[in-house]
Amino acid sequence: MSAGIVIIGGGVAGVRTANLLAARLPAARAHIRLLDAGGRHAYQPAWPSVALDGADPGRFSRDVRSLLHPRVDPVLDEARRLDPTAGKVWLESGATMSYDYAVLATGTRIDRDAVPGLEEGTHDCYSVEGALRLREALGSFAGGTVVVGIAGVPYPCPPAPVEFALRLDEWLRRRGLRDRTAMRYLSPLNRAFPIEGPSREIEPILEERGIAVHTFVNVEEVDPAGRRLYSLEGESFDYDLAVLVPPHRGSRLVTDSGLGDPGGWVPTDPASLKVRGYDRLFALGDATDLPISKAGSTAHFEAGVVAEQVAAAIEGREPDPDAGTYRGRVVCFLGVGRGRTAVIQFDADHPPHLSGPSRLWTAARRAFRAAYWRTMRTGLAFRAQRLLPRGPR
Ligand SMILES: Cc1cc2nc3c(=O)[nH]c(=O)nc-3n(C[C@H](O)[C@H](O)[C@H](O)COP(=O)(O)OP(=O)(O)OC[C@H]3O[C@@H](n4cnc5c(N)ncnc54)[C@H](O)[C@@H]3O)c2cc1C
Repeated sequence: MSAGIVIIGGGVAGVRTANLLAARLPAARAHIRLLDAGGRHAYQPAWPSVALDGADPGRFSRDVRSLLHPRVDPVLDEARRLDPTAGKVWLESGATMSYDYAVLATGTRIDRDAVPGLEEGTHDCYSVEGALRLREALGSFAGGTVVVGIAGVPYPCPPAPVEFALRLDEWLRRRGLRDRTAMRYLSPLNRAFPIEGPSREIEPILEERGIAVHTFVNVEEVDPAGRRLYSLEGESFDYDLAVLVPPHRGSRLVTDSGLGDPGGWVPTDPASLKVRGYDRLFALGDATDLPISKAGSTAHFEAGVVAEQVAAAIEGREPDPDAGTYRGRVVCFLGVGRGRTAVIQFDADHPPHLSGPSRLWTAARRAFRAAYWRTMRTGLAFRAQRLLPRGPR
C-alpha cells in the first residue's frame, strides 16, 4: 500500500524534501503532496538587491509547482491545524487530508507588532513589500544618521544585517552621501556578529568602513514621529533612517496545533529532525527550534536527513546512520563589500570557520544564484560546497 506523505511549506525545506522523496520512492510506495499557502517560492537572499540595486522582485520568486518533481502533487492551500495523533490536517479551504508521514517546513512569519512603533518607524528587507518600501525611502535619503540592526531574535540568515550595513555603506559612497551620513550598527549581543570567531574578523571591517557598532541593544520601542528608538537596556538612538530586522515567529499552524514553543518554533530532535514526541512528524528549515542558523543551506542539508528518515520508515529499515542524521552543517555567504565575499561554515565536529573574504567567493555566490532555480531540484550547487575546507576540528 502507498504511504501518504504531506509536506507543509513550499520553501527550500519543503521543495527539496518533496523532490528527494519523489526521486527515491516509487509511486507504489508513496503518494507525496506538498501544501503551500501562497503558491510562490521566494529566493529571499535577493531581497536586499530589490532595495539597493533596483532589482525586479519578479525575478526572485517562482510558482512552486514549476519546481516540483512530477510525482509530487502540489496543493495550493493553507494548513490551519494538524493533529499528529490522528494524522490529519485541516485546510483553509475546508478540506482535510490524512497522512502517514508529515513534514513541517513552514518557515517563519514576521511579527512587527511585537515592537511598538516598528512598523511605522523603520524599514527592512525581510519581505518583498518591505524591500520595495525601503527602496523608496532610500530614493529620497539625502544624508543623516542611519541605524541598521536587529529588533528580535531568532531571525533568518544571521549574516544578513551585517552584510546589508556594508552594502548600504557602498551604496551611500556611490551616491556621494557617505560623508553626510553617520552609520550605526545595533546588535542585541555582546558582539556585532552572532558567532564569536567570525565576529572577530568582521568587526574590524565595520570599523574600517566607519560603521559604529553598539552592542547589547535589544530594541524595545520605536518613536516614529521623533525618529528615535529605545532599547531594553535603557539607551536611545536618534535616526533619520532605520533598517531593522523585524521579530520573527513560527507559523500560526504550529501554535494553533499546540505543537510549538511560545515563539511558535517546533521542538525538534537535532539529529533525526523528528518533532519531539512523535514518530511520523518531522520539522526542518526555519520552522524548528534548533539553536542553529536559520538559513537556506541549513534547510537544504536537513532535507536530505528528513528524506532518508521517511524513506527508511516506509521501506521498513533502519535509517542510514550518516544520511539519516543531521550533524549541524551550515554554510553561509557574507558579502563584505569591495567585491569580496566570505564563507562561514560549521557543523557538530567543526567550529565556525570563516574562509576569505575573496573575489573567488563572490564569483561562486553569483554562480550559485544564477543556478538557483535549476539546482532546487538537483542540489548540485550544495554538493559543490562539500568541497570547501571545513577548518580545524
Ligand atoms: C534578506 C534575507 C537574506 C538571506 N540570505 C541568505 C543567504 O545568503 N544564505 C542562506 O542560506 N539563507 C539566506 N536567507 C535565509 C533563507 O532564505 C531561509 O532560511 C530559507 O528560505 C528558509 O527556508 P524554509 O523552507 O524553511 O522557509 P520559507 O522559505 O520561509 O518557506 C516556508 C513556506 O511555507 C509556507 N507556509 C507557511 N505556513 C504554511 C501553512 N500553514 N500552510 C501552507 N503553507 C505554509 C509559506 O508560504 C512558505 O512558502 C536569507 C533570508 C533573508 C530574509
